[in-house]
Amino acid sequence: MRQYSFSGLSKAAIQKLVLRNVDANNNIRGTVEDIISEVKAKGDGALKSFAQKFDGVALDSLFIDKNKIDELAATISPKVKDAINIAYQNIKKFHQTQISKEEKVETTTGVTCWREVRAIEKVGLYIPGGTAVLPSTFLMLGIPAKIAGCKEIVVCSPPQKSGEVNGYLAYVAQLLEIDRIYLVGGAQAVAAMAYGTKSITKVDKIFGPGNQFVTMAKTLVQSTTNTAIDMPAGPSEVLVIADETANPVFVAADLLAQAEHGVDSQSVLVCISQATIDQTQIELEKQLNILPRKEIAAKAMANSYTVLVKDLEEAIDFSNEYAPEHLILATDNWKPITNKIINAGSVFAGNLTPESAGDYASGTNHTLPTSAYARSYSGVSLDSFVKKITFQHISESGIKNLGKTIETLAEIEGLQAHKNAVSVRLT
Ligand code: NAD
Repeated sequence: MRQYSFSGLSKAAIQKLVLRNVDANNNIRGTVEDIISEVKAKGDGALKSFAQKFDGVALDSLFIDKNKIDELAATISPKVKDAINIAYQNIKKFHQTQISKEEKVETTTGVTCWREVRAIEKVGLYIPGGTAVLPSTFLMLGIPAKIAGCKEIVVCSPPQKSGEVNGYLAYVAQLLEIDRIYLVGGAQAVAAMAYGTKSITKVDKIFGPGNQFVTMAKTLVQSTTNTAIDMPAGPSEVLVIADETANPVFVAADLLAQAEHGVDSQSVLVCISQATIDQTQIELEKQLNILPRKEIAAKAMANSYTVLVKDLEEAIDFSNEYAPEHLILATDNWKPITNKIINAGSVFAGNLTPESAGDYASGTNHTLPTSAYARSYSGVSLDSFVKKITFQHISESGIKNLGKTIETLAEIEGLQAHKNAVSVRLT
C-alpha cells in the first residue's frame, strides 16, 4: 500500500487522492452505450448474444422458472440454509423498523395535509454474478422490496457456466417467493430492465450493485428513460480508521475483505500510529498469500493506501473528504467520534465489528453508495422501494381562512388563473 502523511498533503492533493473509479477517457461509457443500443434494437436476441460473449454461455431460455428454482434450491446443504435463514430474519427485522406512518396535520383551521406511502409497482433487482455470485445481495434487495409490497419484482443475474444460477440464489428466491430469475448480467441487464424486451418487463426503478459496466449503465439509463435507480453502487471500498487500540490482524483482514471483491476495489487505512500501519502491512502480506482470490485482492491493494494522521479528529476529517461506502472505526474509543461522521454509507463501530457482518447477516443493508456518492446518497433501505404521496383536504372554513393568502401570493406572481381558482370558491 502506498503511504501518505496527512500533514504533508495539500487540500488539492487530498482531493486528488480521494478520487476513484473515474472513467476519465470514457472507455467504460462507450462500451456501455453500445451495449444499451444493441439491447434497444435487438431485445432478447441481444441478451442471448451478450451471454455468449461475456459469460461464455449459449442460452436456450433467458430465465429459470419455479420448477428449476425448487430443483436448484434443493441441492444446498442444511448448514447453508440455516445461515441464509438467520441472515434473512435479521435483515427483515432491521428493515421492518423502517415502516413509518406519518401524522395528519391541520396547518390552518380547516386545512389538513398528510402523506401516504405507496410501493413502487415494478422494480428490477440486479444480483451480481461475475467474479462471485452474491445471494446476500438478493436478500438485501428482495427483503425490502417484499416488505414495501412491490407488485412486480424482476430479478436479473449473470448466467453461470451451467447456464443456470447457483443453488444459493435459488434458495433465496424460494424464501422471497420469487418465481423467476432472468439469466442476464452486466449493462445488458440494466438496459433490458430500463427499456423492456419481449421477455423482460420494463421497470420503474432498478436496484443493485455491480461492476463498472453495471454502474455506468444505471447512470446512463436514468437520464434517458423514466426508470429511476437506487444509487451508483459500484466497486466496493472501505476506509478503516485505526488508533493504537486496533488489532493489526483484524485491520488487515478487513482491508483484504474489500480488496477481494474486484481489481477496481479500494481499501484505505487512516491511522494515528506508524507502528500499527507497519504491523498491518506485515499482516497484509501474510493473509493475502493464503487467499483463494489473492490475484484480485493484490491488484486492488496496489490501488490502495494508508494515511498517517495525528489524532482521530484528523482521521474523521480525511474520511469525510473520502466519503467511504464502508467506514470501520477500529478503535475502542469510537463513541465520541460517531457524531463527527458526515459522509459514509455504513459505519462499523469497534474492534469486534467486521464489515463482513453488514455484508451478510447483522441486518443492515449492504447496497451502498460508492465513489464518494455517500456525500449525497443513502444506502438501500425500505424507503428506496416506496414513494410518499402528499394529500390535502380543505373544508369550507379552511378555504375562508387560507383563501386570501393564496390570492395575494398568486397576484404577486402574476398568475391570475391561480387566483381565480380560489376566488370562485370564496364567492
Ligand atoms: P457483475 O454481475 O457486476 O458483472 C458481471 C457482468 O459484467 C458480466 O455478466 C458481463 O455481462 C459484464 N462484463 C464483464 N466484462 C465485461 C466487459 N469487458 N465489457 C462489458 N461487460 C462486461 O459482477 P462482478 O464483475 O463480479 O462485479 C460485482 C461488483 O459489485 C464488484 O465490483 C463489487 O465490488 C461490487 N459490489 C458493490 C456493492 C455495493 O453496495 N456498492 C455490494 C456488493 C458488490
